[in-house]
Amino acid sequence: MIPYIDLHSDTITMMHCPMENLERSRRMVNIERMRRGYTQVQCFSAYVPTGHYPEAVRRFLPWRRFCFIADKKDWLLKRHSDALFPVLGTEDLERGSKAGKIGVLFTIEDAGVIGRCESRLDEAYRRGVRIASLTWNHENTLAFPNSRDAFVMEKGLKPFGAKMVEKMNELGIVVDVSHLSDGGFWDVVRMSKKPFVATHSNSRSLTGHPRNLTDEMIRALAEKGGVMGLNFAPAFLTEDGKRESRIEDMVRHVLHIRKVGGSGVLAIGSDFDGITGNLEIGTPAGIPRLAHALKKAGLSVSEIEAMWQGNARRVLEEVWK
Ligand SMILES: [Zn+2]
Repeated sequence: MIPYIDLHSDTITMMHCPMENLERSRRMVNIERMRRGYTQVQCFSAYVPTGHYPEAVRRFLPWRRFCFIADKKDWLLKRHSDALFPVLGTEDLERGSKAGKIGVLFTIEDAGVIGRCESRLDEAYRRGVRIASLTWNHENTLAFPNSRDAFVMEKGLKPFGAKMVEKMNELGIVVDVSHLSDGGFWDVVRMSKKPFVATHSNSRSLTGHPRNLTDEMIRALAEKGGVMGLNFAPAFLTEDGKRESRIEDMVRHVLHIRKVGGSGVLAIGSDFDGITGNLEIGTPAGIPRLAHALKKAGLSVSEIEAMWQGNARRVLEEVWK
């Protein structure tokens, strides 16, 4: 069994009840299922779609929501200290396997929570954030989102967004381009001094969704030393309208991404607890089935190991050092 790093889940964000925890949980991700799937590190995003907030409160309510989720994450870490620990630096990437514990890596989905306040990025880092997506599906203070509208899709980073990419490089927060506009993606390619990631995106040439990456983008990401986490959502794996994601579709995407960008760009970004539909792999416990299918499809054990953890670790170590 190969331990893995999952670059994206929304589980903690979804936990609204004060006493809800990761032990007795009906969420896709809980401790027992992570143990069964051999999770080494699970990323938990603070998913705060700033565009959903009315303009008048957007400067402070999304940030308060972020702080609320960060508090919940800290509470869970304390409550489950026998099973979980925070991943804050390179030395923590190995720690879990030695102690029989699972690493919790805190991330932001929609860095627009910082508004125009640079010091909030420092504070997010202090609260444990080590990966942050520049946008969700709306325009924010940093950038523009992925869109079927070519005019929006071509827009690049805003000046404040460019400044924050630089600051994330300096702080040691990995830039996440999932959800970003294509124009923004290419700005990050040009501007980021460190490798970056698409935590939960698939191939656009196989599934024509603007959230997925084109072959050109996959190549550029690979050249930068970055990775893309395979998303398990039906919308990013199959043709429009399908409500189920199957292992065979995941394999198809992995084989294509590997052909285009090489096996060094592969990673896992399940999107658990952020996705719905009929999922053949619907919890962490099912991840070993994907490894089995990839092996049957021709991936070597070392390639699967790289996708499961080696590639993601390479990026994290490079950005965090
Ligand atoms: Zn997402």
